[in-house]
Amino acid sequence: MPRSDGREPGQLRPVSFVPDVAPHAAGSVLVSFGNTRVICAATVQEDIPRWMKAQSVAGGWVTAEYSMLPYSTPDRKTRDIARGKLDGRSSEIQRLIGRALRAVTDLKKLGPRTVWVDCDVLQADGGTRTASITGGCVALAIALNGLIGAGGVSEFPLTQLVAAVSAGVWEGSPVLDLDYPEDRDAAVDFNVVMTEDGNFVELQGSGEENVFTAAEMEAMLMLSRTGIEELVGKQREAILSAGKTTEETLTFLGSNLGTS
Ligand code: UDP
Repeated sequence: MPRSDGREPGQLRPVSFVPDVAPHAAGSVLVSFGNTRVICAATVQEDIPRWMKAQSVAGGWVTAEYSMLPYSTPDRKTRDIARGKLDGRSSEIQRLIGRALRAVTDLKKLGPRTVWVDCDVLQADGGTRTASITGGCVALAIALNGLIGAGGVSEFPLTQLVAAVSAGVWEGSPVLDLDYPEDRDAAVDFNVVMTEDGNFVELQGSGEENVFTAAEMEAMLMLSRTGIEELVGKQREAILSAGKTTEETLTFLGSNLGTS
C-alpha cells in the first residue's frame, strides 16, 4: 500500500535545518523532519555536576532536556510544570538524547563545563526523539565551534556526528521515518541511533500488539543505515552554514568526510 504522502519505503521526509534560531544559545537549530519540528539549543555552563566533583572525574558533561510545547500536538499538552512532575516519556527521551550525544563527545577535551542541549518540540508528527538527537548534535557542534573560537577549548570535542531515525513495519512492509499516522498504525516501531561511521549507539524497538522477525529487523536497520548516512550529510551542511567555522571544526568535519 502506498504511503499517505507518496514516499518510497526507504525515503526520509523532507529534512531541513535552520541554524541560529535562538541567538542567546551557544548553538541552536530548528530541525524539521516533515511536519515534526524541534528547536534544539545548546548552552554552556562553566561548571560540572556535583557527582563529578565529588568523584574527582576529569572533564565535562553533556546533558539534554526534552519537552513538547503545549501547542505541538492537536490537543493542548499540559506543561509539566503545571502538572508538578516530569512526564515519564519526556524523562526517557531526554536520557536517550543525552546518551546519544555523550557517545560521540570526548568529555575530557570539553574541559570542566556542562553543555545543556534543550530540545523543545514545536510540532509533533512522529519521530520527535530521533529529530531531537539529529538536531541536538548540530546544536552541540555549533556551540563547540563557538567555544573553540572563544579560546575555551583547543581540540574539537566531538569524535564524530550522531543521528537518529525511526523505522517500522507498516502495512506489512518495512518503512523509514514514520509520521504520526504511520507510527500509530505500525506493527513494529524502531528508533535507531547511529554514528556516522555506521555503529549503533542505541536501538529502541518493539512490536505493538505484535511480533517481528529477524528478517524484518534486518530490513528496518538497513533502511535506517541509509537514512542516517543522508542525515549526516545534511548535519554537516547545517554546521558549516552556521558560519564562523574554526579550523578545528573544519578539520573535524573534513576528516570525517569520506566515512559516511
Ligand atoms: N504524541 C502526542 N502526544 C503525546 C505523545 C506523543 O501527540 O503526549 C504523538 C506525537 O505526534 C509523537 C507521536 O505521538 O511524535 C509518537 O510518539 P512517541 O512516544 O512514539 O515518540 P516520538 O515518535 O515522537 O519519538
